[in-house]
Amino acid sequence: MQIDLTGKRALVTGANSGLGAAIATALGKAGARVAINYVVHPENARAVADTIESSQPLTLQADVSSPDAVATMFQQLDTTWGGLDILVNNAGIDGARAVAWEVDPSTWRKVMDINLFGAFLCCREALQRMTKQNAGVILNITSVHEVIAWSGYSAYTSAKAGLGMLTKTLAQEAAPFGVRVLALAPGAIKTPINESVWRDPKMLRDLENKIALGRMGVPEEIANLVVTLVSDVASYVTGTTLFADGGMTDYPDFAHGG
Ligand code: BGC
Repeated sequence: MQIDLTGKRALVTGANSGLGAAIATALGKAGARVAINYVVHPENARAVADTIESSQPLTLQADVSSPDAVATMFQQLDTTWGGLDILVNNAGIDGARAVAWEVDPSTWRKVMDINLFGAFLCCREALQRMTKQNAGVILNITSVHEVIAWSGYSAYTSAKAGLGMLTKTLAQEAAPFGVRVLALAPGAIKTPINESVWRDPKMLRDLENKIALGRMGVPEEIANLVVTLVSDVASYVTGTTLFADGGMTDYPDFAHGG
């Protein structure tokens, strides 16, 4: 099935690398007009824009954890496009590994600020517009760590679990206006965020053992799902998270023993 998003206006946060870049490219290839949000490295945002030149992409600099920067970004979208149909909250960091009693509280808060508060700020601005136009879709990128604990990453896991519940609550609020809010939880996808793991053969093997399909995913496997979930193919899906994790949440260790 060919999904056609021609005429749809889509903002992807954190879209100048990793999953966000693949998502922006896939949306553009499906015909959507795409705004590529980034914080640093505009040249990377431009490179993503070059992959979808025909759909006239925008590149917008904004730190999603700043209410003023987010408000300005949405005003720019109003001026250029006159609104928004699709928001993909993808921007996120995992933070340095440290057990809770050793972590610097400001580092902990920064992960929350970007991954949860930042997504909330973008949802807030988007919903102000989408509820008025009685149409729109918000897709939040969470993680298997919405439900799988991860030592050393308590801010990340808390933010992703929080984003899962934010998704459900906003879906309830927005449903009467015909607006869908849902989440996609990737597992281990080969991107810069986990490069130190997949570059180390021992760590890679350990990670692959945690995945039922026995391999990491590639960004396109997530990006193509995003295109499907924001399209009308998924018109009956809201207030839930779809896990795309090669069976990481299927607890592959239970294939033996128990
Ligand atoms: C993290 C990756 C990690 C994966 C599985 C993702 O949310 O960003 O670094 O490989 O979860 O643990």
